[in-house]
Parts: sequence; structure tokens; C-alpha cells
Amino acid sequence: MVLAELGGSISRALQQMSSATVIDEKVLNECLNEITRALLQSDVQFKLVRDMQTNIKKIVNLDDLAAGHNKRKIIQQAIFNELCKMLDPGKPSFVPKKGKTSVVMFVGLQGSGKTTTCTKYAYYHQKKGWKPALVCADTFRAGAFDQLKQNATKAKIPFYGSYMESDPVKIAVEGVERFKKENCDLIIVDTSGRHKQEAALFEEMRQVSEATKPDLVIFVMDSSIGQAAFDQALAFKQSVSVGAVIVTKMDGHAKGGGALSAVAATKSPVIFFGTGEHMDEFEVFDVKPFVSRLLG
Ligand code: GDP
Repeated sequence: MVLAELGGSISRALQQMSSATVIDEKVLNECLNEITRALLQSDVQFKLVRDMQTNIKKIVNLDDLAAGHNKRKIIQQAIFNELCKMLDPGKPSFVPKKGKTSVVMFVGLQGSGKTTTCTKYAYYHQKKGWKPALVCADTFRAGAFDQLKQNATKAKIPFYGSYMESDPVKIAVEGVERFKKENCDLIIVDTSGRHKQEAALFEEMRQVSEATKPDLVIFVMDSSIGQAAFDQALAFKQSVSVGAVIVTKMDGHAKGGGALSAVAATKSPVIFFGTGEHMDEFEVFDVKPFVSRLLG
């Protein structure tokens, strides 16, 4: 896993610094530059890395380092705290309550793993005793309804969609209404994607959101998109009120740094991450373990 490699580079940089006889500004800068390179390689956005570097310089007191304290530990702690801060938007996302109807709308580009993630999210809650339901409002991609239907059937989760209807807003509204009547407590609306950020997609997202009034909009992001993460997340945030992020494909060569960009762009927390194609390859995202792993 590449995260471990990143940890390796950071550990090496810290080791090099702590073995220096005198820790002066030059040694600290060299160490921070090394860490910066590691984070950039892991797809953390340049601006975020630069901000982190500035903050660490403000926090780390060179006199403390010179006084023989555990230098490595001081810097490591500062980096840890900064990365945690970058993943914490300062407010929690809306959390649906079991037994009370919530509508959750998923948005993201085509191929991000949106449809798969909708089922994973439904399945995760179903296992905990919820009554989830899936609505396929993706009328753009041929085969989207079949995919959702197949996933939902496998997990025994009720679903709604249409082969004939081409209006995603109509399907979304009908599906949400039906499952509200059936007392489902977690109504998940899967939406269309596009291969790239397009005005038509964002307009469609705006309309579906306006019509279904979701309690939570989740932005799904492929962790391998690299430096594109910030702009992509921001584009969705500007059209609908994204309240949480799910990062997919963390099992691949993903470097994970895009998660930091998505949080910065949407001002929303990452709540889950996907680690495979299967329904149960889905984990709750926790900031501290994620950062620990990042630091090796
Ligand atoms: P959508 O176009 O955004 O709805 O994307 P899909 O849900 O169809 O997913 C696109 C591809 O990514 C499919 O082959 C999924 O099986 C795969 N996929 C989704 N999430 C993950 C994940 O966490 N890990 C891996 N390895 N593959 C995933």
C-alpha cells in the first residue's frame, strides 16, 4: 500500500533530522521539504501542504528542539496534529437516525464508485437493523439501473427505478415518496455521473436535490484521481450542499491524499471509505487511524 511508502519517507525525513547534531532552521526546513515531497506524491494538494508547512514552522519552537527534547517526537506530533486538523472540517456531518426517515443523495463523477458505494452504505446500515432503500435516478448511463437492481437484489434491499423514464427528477421523487410510505428510514438516491465535470450534470444534481430535499448529500470520490480532487469536490459543492465525503478504491494504488483536498473543498468530513468491489469492503473513516497510517 502506498500509504506505507509515504509513512516511510516521512519517517526517514524525521530520522535524518533527529540524527543531526544541531537542529537549526536549515535542518528543520530540509526535513519539512522532504515531508512536503512525500505528501505531494501522495496527492495532497500543493496549497494544503504549503499551509501545513507554514503552520508547523509556527508551532515548532526551535529552542525546544535545541534543548534536547525528543525532536523527532515534537515534529511528528506537530505533523500528526496538522494532518488531523486538515481532515476535520470543524463540524460533523448530518447523521441519519434509525427509525426516522432520512433521504441521502449520492453525487460524483461516472466511475467514481457511486453506485457501488450506495449499496455498500445501504448494506452497512441494513446489517445494523436499519430499513434502507435504493432509488436509481441515474438515467444517463446505460445499465445503471440494472447494476443497482442487481446489487440491491443481492443484498435484499428494496429498490426503485425505471427502464422507460428518462427524467431523473421524476424517478427520484417517485422513489423517495414510495419508500417514505413504506416507512424506510434510509432512502438512498443514486444519481447520474459524467466522465468529466459538466454544466448539465451540475444542473441535474441541483434539480434532483431541490426536488427530493435530501437530509444529506454525499460526494463520492475515487481516491486515484490525484490532484484533480480539490476542483472536482469544489464543483459539486458549488451546485449542491455536499455534507459528507466517501473516498473509494483505497485498496488500489491510491495515495489517499485526495481525501484532504475533498475535505478542504467541501468543508465536510470523510465518513466512510471503500476498500474493494464487494459490498462489505467498506469502512468507517476515522481521522486519527488514517493519519497514523499516513505517517507510518
Ligand atoms: P459509478 O459510475 O460512479 O456509479 O461507479 P460504479 O459503482 O459503477 O464503480 C465503478 C467501478 O469501480 C466498478 O467496477 C466497481 O466495482 C469499482 N469500485 C467501486 N468502489 C470500489 C472500491 O472501493 N475498490 C475497488 N477496487 N473498486 C471499486
